[in-house]
Amino acid sequence: MRFPFALTFKIAKHITRHRLKRTPRFAMVLQLEPLHTCNLTCTGCGRIREYSTSLKDMVPLEQCLAAADECDAPMVSICGGEPLIYPKIEELVAGLRGQGRIIYICTNGVFMRKKMREYLASVFTPAHETVLARLVAEQLVTEKEAEAIRKADAGAKSKPVIAPSKWMYWNVHVDGLEYTHDLIVEREGVFKECVAAIRMAKILGYQTATNTTVYKETAMPELVDMYKYLSSLGVDGHTISPGYDYDAAKKDMVKRLGRDPKEFFLTRTLTREKFKDIEEWGKMFTIFGTPVYQEFLAGKRELTCTAWAIPTYNVKGWKAPCYLMTDGHFAGYQEMLDTVDWEKYGVVDGVARDARCENCMVHCGYDPSGALSTKPRDNWINMKFNFGARPAAFPSDAALEKRVFNGVTIGKGHLAEAKAAVNKEFSGAKSAYARNGNDLPAAPSAGGGCGGGDAGQRDELLAKLDGARKTDVNAG
Ligand code: SF4
Ligand code: SF4
Repeated sequence: MRFPFALTFKIAKHITRHRLKRTPRFAMVLQLEPLHTCNLTCTGCGRIREYSTSLKDMVPLEQCLAAADECDAPMVSICGGEPLIYPKIEELVAGLRGQGRIIYICTNGVFMRKKMREYLASVFTPAHETVLARLVAEQLVTEKEAEAIRKADAGAKSKPVIAPSKWMYWNVHVDGLEYTHDLIVEREGVFKECVAAIRMAKILGYQTATNTTVYKETAMPELVDMYKYLSSLGVDGHTISPGYDYDAAKKDMVKRLGRDPKEFFLTRTLTREKFKDIEEWGKMFTIFGTPVYQEFLAGKRELTCTAWAIPTYNVKGWKAPCYLMTDGHFAGYQEMLDTVDWEKYGVVDGVARDARCENCMVHCGYDPSGALSTKPRDNWINMKFNFGARPAAFPSDAALEKRVFNGVTIGKGHLAEAKAAVNKEFSGAKSAYARNGNDLPAAPSAGGGCGGGDAGQRDELLAKLDGARKTDVNAG
């Protein structure tokens, strides 16, 4: 089976229950943002900008659990900000499990290994020595860390931890291969850390997933390599979504200056071009997301936005109408469902009900539309997909690894590249992506679990390179 039976069954039961009750709108996935603080400052991150005045605020644990209880979504995606910074993350995961939810922890991966060491310390007995020795041998845990795990005191043993469970996934944000990903998150070494964290998670028996956002500059062949490599690591599934950002200023430029929208937006046409092979990918890799949504992305059909099915709850309340756009926050999920005029949003028969929705095809608006379709043919293909055989893991090889670690590992990190630009030796330090005749990739915002974007990334990166050049000149 492509997905664990118990999880598929739980979701199917939830949908059936609401269909029988004829509930007009209900939640499938809660996007829970307990905080917006992050250890990274990705270029173009929508979250750390939109909530810049409340970055220090957090949703109290009880309120997080009450929100999950209120909307009763079978799946909760804990995102942010970086959820592993949330001081009560372990209690939150335990509380959501107590409610019977399927949990995705959407993380940038940087603190994952620390959390898994804490887990290992809490359960460690001599019987775990073999696994610990393997982690050390594979350089996923240092000798010093291994010793700390062996000598864990009563405090470490009784600490709440995030343990492996078939009901929980680490959902790691990965937007490309090493060079691209580190550029996006603006820190060299993050891609390598994500890979190390995924490898450690698999050894310890955790379920792992990845989430990727595709933007205008994303090179799709690069993503095929990324999925092959992730598959070789044993990653259990992947969420992929086109990025989308509505920016009134850019829209105005299109209108006033007669500029081509393609210069600014991942338009519907561009999205369909990018995703034309998504159904093939669905056969090759364990892509999460219904085949109906995949047909929509590939341009084979239309769907109506069902943003109410993936509601977002954060420090300001229930965010309406969707993860991307904010027209207001509400105190309750039901209040939001009852108050928002949902007929004002989305694209129906090719016509945008709201100009801001015109080019949106994002996962949080349209994937549930596929899952909730009442057409027998859609139900059949969704079921066939879910119950079908899981794609076999790709074997990794030296050539693939060489393409994957194309950044800081080979001395071509973005900082090295910025330095090269400063020294006017840029061409000698171009990335593999750029050397293949492409423009340097702009930095898309993190998708799926966090971020949620601003497409001024290219301009900002160029400005940073320019700034670095000036600083260097001044210093010299
Ligand atoms: S179409 Fe996209 S932007 Fe518009 S409401 Fe739906 S999810 Fe939000
Ligand atoms: S995109 Fe995600 S990882 Fe990056 S700064 Fe924003 S919240 Fe943090």
